[in-house]
Amino acid sequence: MPSELNKLTIAEASTLLRKGEITALQLARDCLDRIQAIEPKLNAFITVCEKEALEQAHAADRRLKSNEAPALCGIPLGIKDIYATRGVRTTCASRILGNFVPPFDATVVERLRAAGAVFVGKTNLDEFAMGSSTENSAFGATLNPHDTERVAGGSSGGSAAAVAANECLGSLGTDTGGSIREPASFCGVVGMKPTYSRVSRYGVIAYASSLDQVGPFAKSVRDAAIILRTLAGKDPRDSTCSARAVPDYERALTGDVKGLRIGVPKEYFVEGMQPEVEKSVRAAIKIYESLGAKAVDVSMPHTGYAIAAYYLVATAEASANLARYDGIRYGLRIDAEDHIDLYNLTRAEGFGAEVKRRIMLGTFALSAGYYDAYYLKSQKVRTLIRRDFERAFEKCDLIVTPVAPTTAFKLGEKMNDPLTMYLSDIFTISVNLAGLPGMSIPCGYDEKNLPIGMQLIGPPFSEETIFRAGDAFERAGSFKPRPTAV
Ligand code: GLN
Repeated sequence: MPSELNKLTIAEASTLLRKGEITALQLARDCLDRIQAIEPKLNAFITVCEKEALEQAHAADRRLKSNEAPALCGIPLGIKDIYATRGVRTTCASRILGNFVPPFDATVVERLRAAGAVFVGKTNLDEFAMGSSTENSAFGATLNPHDTERVAGGSSGGSAAAVAANECLGSLGTDTGGSIREPASFCGVVGMKPTYSRVSRYGVIAYASSLDQVGPFAKSVRDAAIILRTLAGKDPRDSTCSARAVPDYERALTGDVKGLRIGVPKEYFVEGMQPEVEKSVRAAIKIYESLGAKAVDVSMPHTGYAIAAYYLVATAEASANLARYDGIRYGLRIDAEDHIDLYNLTRAEGFGAEVKRRIMLGTFALSAGYYDAYYLKSQKVRTLIRRDFERAFEKCDLIVTPVAPTTAFKLGEKMNDPLTMYLSDIFTISVNLAGLPGMSIPCGYDEKNLPIGMQLIGPPFSEETIFRAGDAFERAGSFKPRPTAV
């Protein structure tokens, strides 16, 4: 039996589980041991679910004997603490939900449960998924397993760090403006943000509903494909969720990218980005060419407006979504003489600084007299950005860009300068504004040994092509993942 089962990929573990060479209980135990050993250094989890995980593993072992076990049976996963989990505290990294225990499961949690997955715990994030570094968590920042003086990225920093540090084999994140792809890039793992509507958002605590999307983190493209297949597909409880059939993504992994046209947008290779990031992504494009793909220049002229448009649309929607935290129905309540004081005190005490900033920005953008100038205008810009992509995809099948302009930055480095923090999302947010699928895969290291990610973007519902291209890059073998520092 191999040692340190927590280091296996999902595909490897699944094969061994089916052959009876390892048990789900052993696998869960190794992950939980790793969590116990490393969490004091990483803080990737808000809640560790040891007891539940061992029970699920036990049940998975029974199912595995039946030979009809689904793909994820017995696989230990981390779940971002933004997903409602029945009977398990769900905080969204906020004091306002510090003791909230949902009476129901999010659709994707329910699907993973039905598939026999084992939940080792709820992972850390920026409060209400607002941030790019997981420093905006009421439960403390998550540290980067490659260098614990640096951030793990955000908002799904806990989910990315947990997979990178082998605390679980895969995890769930959400991505509103880059929250899966940027932490994946900073931690050196694969992160997939599917097409808007590909996966149900029912039971996912809402940040910006027209941008939020669910997706997996994994150690390989194949593993991400395996998880997404279980997550995706129609859900009567989310009317925005697509009824389109879900392909067997794993079957798309043929290794063949001959003739694939790869668009390289000049607006995504800008001055001021870390030179090693540009170098690694350009080297990856060369690898694709050596595999028979064709690089073509494309242009997306409205890219420069994306951050401004995003921070209007996202905050406007957030200000409406977060109105429900009023101290009346659930979560924190600070009692007061009258209900207006109760709202005020509860929200003042319950929300952190960044969340308050966003509620104020969003409320302003939506207020009478400013609506046309800000909110409406940002929606028009959003359309222009979507058209940029549509035009680009007339000339290419996929677009390749960096994920973030830099590798993981130091803790505290950007906390006092929100605008610099917002710039971390410059290459990812347009993808959300246009509703497209985008994946981050590791493609290099900088001179400090920090991971660099490349982003593959496709037209709506082109997840198979993205997975195929990502997997082909991994197979080419020119990039070798390095172990984490901790
Ligand atoms: N960093 C971006 C923000 O703060 C994106 C976050 C996300 O995708 N949830 O809004």
